[in-house]
Amino acid sequence: MAHHDVIVVGGGPGGSTAAWRLALAGLRPLVLDAAVFPRVKICAGWVTPEALADARVDPQKYPLTIQPFSACRFEFDGARTETRWRRPASYGILRREFDHYLLDRARAAGADVREGARVTAVTQDAGGIRVVSPHGTFTASVVIGAGGHRCPVAEALGEVSGHEEVVIAQESETRLSPEWVEALGRWWEAPELYVEPDLKGYGWYFPKGDVLNVGVGCVAGPGADLPRRRDALVRALRAAGRLPADLPIEPFRGHAYVVRRRAPRKLAGDRFCLVGDAAGLARDLSGEGIGPAIKSGMLAAEAVEARLARGAGLEAYAAAIVRRYGSGETSWLGRQLARIPDSWARGLVRAVLNTAATRRHVVFGRIFGMREVAS
Ligand SMILES: Cc1cc2nc3c(=O)[nH]c(=O)nc-3n(C[C@H](O)[C@H](O)[C@H](O)COP(=O)(O)OP(=O)(O)OC[C@H]3O[C@@H](n4cnc5c(N)ncnc54)[C@H](O)[C@@H]3O)c2cc1C
Repeated sequence: MAHHDVIVVGGGPGGSTAAWRLALAGLRPLVLDAAVFPRVKICAGWVTPEALADARVDPQKYPLTIQPFSACRFEFDGARTETRWRRPASYGILRREFDHYLLDRARAAGADVREGARVTAVTQDAGGIRVVSPHGTFTASVVIGAGGHRCPVAEALGEVSGHEEVVIAQESETRLSPEWVEALGRWWEAPELYVEPDLKGYGWYFPKGDVLNVGVGCVAGPGADLPRRRDALVRALRAAGRLPADLPIEPFRGHAYVVRRRAPRKLAGDRFCLVGDAAGLARDLSGEGIGPAIKSGMLAAEAVEARLARGAGLEAYAAAIVRRYGSGETSWLGRQLARIPDSWARGLVRAVLNTAATRRHVVFGRIFGMREVAS
């Protein structure tokens, strides 16, 4: 049975960032991912400047598909608004490429990456962590759980309850011919967001490079009916000319993630940290999860390095996450807002979206993390 200082379960942005950072510190983390990269990841691929900076990815030098955006449109209740920035305020990437790039970077830095290695069991005892996969059984002093919302480390050690809030989403990502990109040119310069009438989610129309990503997500539960929302969005996009009837698009595919709001998972223990979706860190209103996965991967790696070098406790990691993303419990303000009648809530959202300053600073700045990149 091979022993490692640290095992990372999952090689998405959270796991690959943690492994990269650990490898740069001179460790040789073992990364186990169920998939073989490049793999499909259901995701719109919207990244903030902050996420790229945290990942130490320079958008000017990134060698794969990257689409800078300096405008974004919002539609709610029949009103359409557009916000513009002088410089790019966010980017579009393809997850298939981006995740592969980050994982290869971790491998090049010295991480031992095993693909096609689905972890089937994780146990902990006084001596350490034991991880079982088709590539063998491995032991380690510490494990980082980065396997997405069904992460086996979270399920074994993170005190996952059956009461979590889950966001369900469906998307279609299609590579278009140059003729189609030209024909859709007027829709190509800015992503568009469509707030659902009941405020339970939103849809998006997101062009990037020669790829069009269309999707919709909402909080699971009574009335969620995602297929109805998807069909309504597609109908509206077709009627508006953004999705011409003869433009073939890839079938919609679904995925879900948990939001750390109702029943937060345990973020760390004596021998484990959870990062990214495994910890439920995707932002509840915007759904931004790439940035939190990268940031938490970095923070987990720093905490694990300190534990291995000096025996420091991993609770420092959990405290850093709570400082940054909150405790996961609904705030007093959140509880009051949840009680206001739907018509008032819609009026409030209308007022916020229709005022340029609140849209720019509250909606895009605070909720979506979109800020102009300094030149
Ligand atoms: C439809 C949709 C659209 C989204 N759009 C955006 C967006 O535009 N921008 C944004 O910031 N966020 C978006 N998100 C959220 C974002 O995709 C996630 O938050 C992000 O991928 C989390 O990264 P991660 O590294 O934690 O997990 P993942 O990217 O899910 O990586 C987890 C990895 O673990 C591996 N794995 C799983 N189980 C096992 C196992 N048992 N053993 C070994 N390996 C395992 C998987 O193969 C995978 O590679 C979207 C989510 C959805 C569902």
